[in-house]
Amino acid sequence: MDIAKADIKYIQGIGAKRAELLNKELNVRSVEDLLYYFPYRYIDRSRTYTIREITGSMPYIQLKGRILSFEMMGEGTGKRLSAQFTDGTGTIELVWFKGAKFIAEKYKIGAEYMIFGKPAVFGSRWNIAHPEIDVYDEEIDKPAGLQGYYNTSEKMKRSFMNSKAIQKIMFTIIQSLRGGVTETLPAYVIERSKCIYLNDALRNIHFPQSPDMLRKAEYRLKFEELFYLQLNLLRYSLLRKHKLGGFAFSSIGSYFNDFYKNNLPFELTGAQKRVLREIRQDVGTGRQMNRLLQGDVGSGKTLVGLMTMLMALDNGFQACLMAPTEILATQHFEGIVGLLEGMDVEVVLLTGSTRKKQREYIHEGLQSGRIKIVIGTHALIEDTVKFHNLGMVVIDEQHRFGVEQRSKLWRKNVRAPHVLVMTATPIPRTLAMTLYGDLDVSVIDELPPGRKPIQTIHQFDNKRASLYAAVRKQLELGRQVYVVYPLIEENEKLDYKNLETGFESMKEIFPEYKVCMVHGKMKPAEKDAAMQSFVNHEAHIMVATTVIEVGVNVPNASVMIIESAERFGLSQLHQLRGRVGRGADQSYCILITSFKLSDDTRKRMEIMVRTCDGFEISEADLQLRGPGDIEGTQQSGVAFDLKISNLAKDGQILQFARDIASEIIEKDPNLEQPENFILSKQLQKLFAKKVDWSFIS
Ligand code: ADP
Ligand code: MG
Repeated sequence: MDIAKADIKYIQGIGAKRAELLNKELNVRSVEDLLYYFPYRYIDRSRTYTIREITGSMPYIQLKGRILSFEMMGEGTGKRLSAQFTDGTGTIELVWFKGAKFIAEKYKIGAEYMIFGKPAVFGSRWNIAHPEIDVYDEEIDKPAGLQGYYNTSEKMKRSFMNSKAIQKIMFTIIQSLRGGVTETLPAYVIERSKCIYLNDALRNIHFPQSPDMLRKAEYRLKFEELFYLQLNLLRYSLLRKHKLGGFAFSSIGSYFNDFYKNNLPFELTGAQKRVLREIRQDVGTGRQMNRLLQGDVGSGKTLVGLMTMLMALDNGFQACLMAPTEILATQHFEGIVGLLEGMDVEVVLLTGSTRKKQREYIHEGLQSGRIKIVIGTHALIEDTVKFHNLGMVVIDEQHRFGVEQRSKLWRKNVRAPHVLVMTATPIPRTLAMTLYGDLDVSVIDELPPGRKPIQTIHQFDNKRASLYAAVRKQLELGRQVYVVYPLIEENEKLDYKNLETGFESMKEIFPEYKVCMVHGKMKPAEKDAAMQSFVNHEAHIMVATTVIEVGVNVPNASVMIIESAERFGLSQLHQLRGRVGRGADQSYCILITSFKLSDDTRKRMEIMVRTCDGFEISEADLQLRGPGDIEGTQQSGVAFDLKISNLAKDGQILQFARDIASEIIEKDPNLEQPENFILSKQLQKLFAKKVDWSFIS
């Protein structure tokens, strides 16, 4: 059987209807897809405990017995469904705070069940809250040991496609794979990496023979996943270096030099100079530059981006700067126009809301080559935007701009323009290696002189009075204040209401100061006016949503108050905090949360209070949230359909996989040797669909 082609609907126990459900809910179509749908956790069934044996501090345990009765108990938030469960040695209470009706209907009094859960003491008795309940199944439960649990959606559960059902199907499939699955790693790689065979790995990931075999299975599958990811990245980075020649910028001319001499408002920091030298070297080689520039908020990346664009102009090329939002693009546009004052360079702004007439003017100017610098949003990548001779692309705050999107830009000229990606969210090493295995990295590790570290304070929301006294002191010193509210789509109405209330109360508390408000629902003109009033220091306090997260630069602002800080991720908090501390004054960031906090939230607040180091924060963020949750990653589509590896935890395997992949690519760049046949075949299967690389060769 070719498992990649075999449709699941022909598998015994599935059929057309369930196949469609699996298809829609889990994106599983073939037998292979299903085999690669792994359990998310395992429960040790090697031992069934008796109720009499239960003592304190037990982990998840398994009991086998019968439900004696159901009863609704308690009031309000304490309202719950309670069941008495016995196994002959004693009784224990099972409780559910949710889904009572469903549970009481589903489970029959008197039938034999296996239950799993963590016993806890309530009053003077043992209970298990929200236990998992299974019908005892002789066939599957017989090889007692570690049993896999599969994630299934609500919709699937309603059609009785729960974890147990998936497990049964998996059992059928594994039984039917007589000849086993085809190995996907060459023998020498298996040996080198000390992996077990794919066949054994797949069997054991679903039905572990022992904890040891499960570990080996996990290692094999993680290794393979990361290995191919790296092999793919390394292969193309090499291809690009060899085949995809870049434009050689042979000289530095008057654009760069005049700017440096006449327009540069301050001395560059040592780090800015070093990075510019690195870039200068890259673009001089005749190979295409793909460089990631990491630098904490306020480290002065914009200037580096601008001077990099000027290098392109000096060599007869055009340059563009792309930003993630219209506000940021606009601010860059205004800032850069200001910086280039007195120089003969036409700079234009192109975004989604650029009027048709202006848009046509820009299209024409870019195509004829008259316009040298364009700043904009994603609108720049559209096919309608054609350049006369684009040589440099600077991408700001879009570090999750993957290979695919970058490849769109590469097509804007006969050869790929140089690319500089700038980001203030430092990417942990493992993530950078996965997303950008093909990028070179520069770091600005120095802030412009005179900046003081921001003091961060965590405050519960019932202590506002003392907070406002401190804010007033700052206002009296002539400083400005941001107050930021969270805003998410699901909760939009309420969030806007909180914002409005916050705005009104700031006006009341600080009647002698002017308060402005900025949010995404305002008309652009209104928003601009409000923003401008803050920039001009007409307004002293700005109440806003996260629209101010990136970009806005008001060095006189010294206080950042973040309301409902528990609702923000670490990286976002760090970004927001970066809006202050841009001038010479001592700045403050105040994180306001409710008193009741989850462990995770408390940790987030502690990290924010402890450090201003963006690298440390992003590393912690990755540990706390896992890479899939890091903002923006879902859309990047690059590396996050990882099925089993966890970039936060599997850094070592990743490094090992990358080392082996890089040795292979070095010896056999095109993977043409017979022993590497499997590799090129597998790469094609895994990645061919995703990126069209044909234009490279
Ligand atoms: P980011 O790296 O966060 O994009 P910006 O480029 O917005 O930072 O720069 C932050 C602020 O620092 C700006 O006001 C900018 O003009 C200023 N700045 C940049 N480089 C220097 C420097 N070498 N010396 C002093 N101020 C600088
Ligand atoms: Mg910036």
